[in-house]
Amino acid sequence: MVAAGKLATYRLPPLPTIGEIIKLFNLRAERQMSQNFLLDLRLTDKIVRKAGNIKNAYVCEVGPGPGGITRSILNAGAEELLVVEKDTRFLPGLQMLAEAAPGRVKIVHGDIMTYKMERAFPKNLKRNWEDDPPNVHVIGNLPFSVSTPLIVKWLESVANRSGPFVYGRTQLTLTFQKEVAEVDVGVVHFTPLVQPQISQPFKLVEKVVRSVFNFRRKYCRRGVEILFPEAQRLQLTERMLCSADVNPTLRPTELSIIQFKNLCDAYRTLCDENPELFNYDFREELRMKRKSPKETFAEEESSYEN
Ligand code: SAM
Repeated sequence: MVAAGKLATYRLPPLPTIGEIIKLFNLRAERQMSQNFLLDLRLTDKIVRKAGNIKNAYVCEVGPGPGGITRSILNAGAEELLVVEKDTRFLPGLQMLAEAAPGRVKIVHGDIMTYKMERAFPKNLKRNWEDDPPNVHVIGNLPFSVSTPLIVKWLESVANRSGPFVYGRTQLTLTFQKEVAEVDVGVVHFTPLVQPQISQPFKLVEKVVRSVFNFRRKYCRRGVEILFPEAQRLQLTERMLCSADVNPTLRPTELSIIQFKNLCDAYRTLCDENPELFNYDFREELRMKRKSPKETFAEEESSYEN
């Protein structure tokens, strides 16, 4: 009886459907902002269930839009929900939801790329990194164009234990969409590990992974090459792949985490021998070459962008 009563306090009172909210506030999805909305509450409930048990949890939802996932988070019993939305058009609809769940919803009109989550939740939620994850979750359905830079930023925050990770190993539940209007979204749940699998500075790991994936359909050797200036390219590529014991004809998607770890460790050794190496930027070299009117680099450029 008690449990049922408690649950009843979590459940939202009857509200207009998300479709009605969209009509009521004239919330057309902006194609140029890659917006699309999840209208089916069974689907949003399913996404939220991927976060695990969020009863009494403190949740930050990124990009709530008209509020489908927002409702599911509230119905799942979140204690406090902070929503960060960039587009002002959604604020009145979100305000309506906030009134239906008194004291549980905070609305932030802002950009999640710059929003400081460090002070968003009470300090007493903080856990040591080695402990179980804190009672804090980040959930969101963002366009691909935002979720990719955001996840890179958050991976760096994991390494620095900043942003959402000042509370400890905060869990993220994010959807990834390939195309606008593709309703069949993929949901990824992240829990930071206590120990990173690659013990190198984030910037180094990012540089190696980014370079290798620059040519995702080519042999991994092609991506490793762009870590090095032209004069030493062949020799250092060979050395790096050899000491990492990685077959140069594997594709980036075929490499395991261990192989990426070995590549990062091998690159680190080369950078320790020649500290200038880490500052080498293939894109910069490409830009300089582009400025040179005499030469044509069409071939290099097209493979680079491939
Ligand atoms: N969560 C809603 C849903 O599932 O129906 C809306 C999803 S829509 C794909 C993405 C939402 O993220 C939009 O409401 C958009 O305005 C918002 N958004 C996009 N970039 C953002 C940013 N940098 N910061 C905060 N919100 C953002």
